[in-house]
Amino acid sequence: MNSNYQNITENAYNLSNSLDSKGKLATYIPELANVDPSKFGVHMTKVDGTHFGMGDHLEKFSIQSITKVLSLALAYKIVGEKLWDRVDVEPSGTKFDSLLLLESYKGIPRNPFVNSGAIVICDILISHLDNASVDFLEFVRDLSGIPDLTYSDQIADSEKATGYRNVALCNFIKSFGNIQNEPNVVLDFYFDMCSIEMTCQQLSHTFGFLANGGRQLVDGRKIISKSKSKRINALMLTCGFYDESGEFAFKVGLPGKSGVGGGIVALYPHNYTIAVWSPKLNPNGNSFKGMKLLEEVTTHSELSIF
Ligand code: GLU
Repeated sequence: MNSNYQNITENAYNLSNSLDSKGKLATYIPELANVDPSKFGVHMTKVDGTHFGMGDHLEKFSIQSITKVLSLALAYKIVGEKLWDRVDVEPSGTKFDSLLLLESYKGIPRNPFVNSGAIVICDILISHLDNASVDFLEFVRDLSGIPDLTYSDQIADSEKATGYRNVALCNFIKSFGNIQNEPNVVLDFYFDMCSIEMTCQQLSHTFGFLANGGRQLVDGRKIISKSKSKRINALMLTCGFYDESGEFAFKVGLPGKSGVGGGIVALYPHNYTIAVWSPKLNPNGNSFKGMKLLEEVTTHSELSIF
């Protein structure tokens, strides 16, 4: 077993960076289409608090769907196991914004990481919190240790202007009775949530609690129970990479979550979290170089959950 993570990560970074720059930027909003496609950063945080990074790891990017893990953590903490009456825990095998399976499953999204599932999670948070948008931001500020973290109005406004499928999803789910609040209120919160920006370093720190049995790395404070942490990890493993979740488990072997901004966060329970960012996406919407780097890290460290 080779535990020299820094060397392994550096080699993986250099190898992935030298690859033919395949993939395409997300283009559905200007804020993603205009990002420098050559950006590439990685940051690893170990559960003992030591951390290191390379490349553009201190530059902020749009975390997009990665935020869905954090909203799930908050909703699960508040509602407990009743949550699963509203959202299922199965890989969807369809695109992240698909309406297809909602008809068959009567408005119950397949999992909390496809858009439909994340929209239902937003609805649940709105029903249980005084001000979901403010309270969620506070939750993420606490996890990340970034006291002045904000939503990006510019990204959220662009998402709102183009998010026709999300509008359709929310209304469709409401027609089955699985959205309790006004769709426009739910969607505003959903778009805010997706607009958060972080660096690889901040992202790897933020996800530390999921590598640490539900407890914050800095002070051991309990965020969620061990069992909830285990289940969220299981969902990341089975549903975290859109239509490519099987491939990620197969090649990398860690729980993780990607976003269309080109970010990926993955973690090895009781060991480390790793966040990587390279904006060019493969045809399944996952960071091309990010996937390659993580595959190299687990291959050469010979450490994965399997
Ligand atoms: N804001 C994007 C959407 O809702 C998130 C996409 C993603 O990162 O998967 O379509």
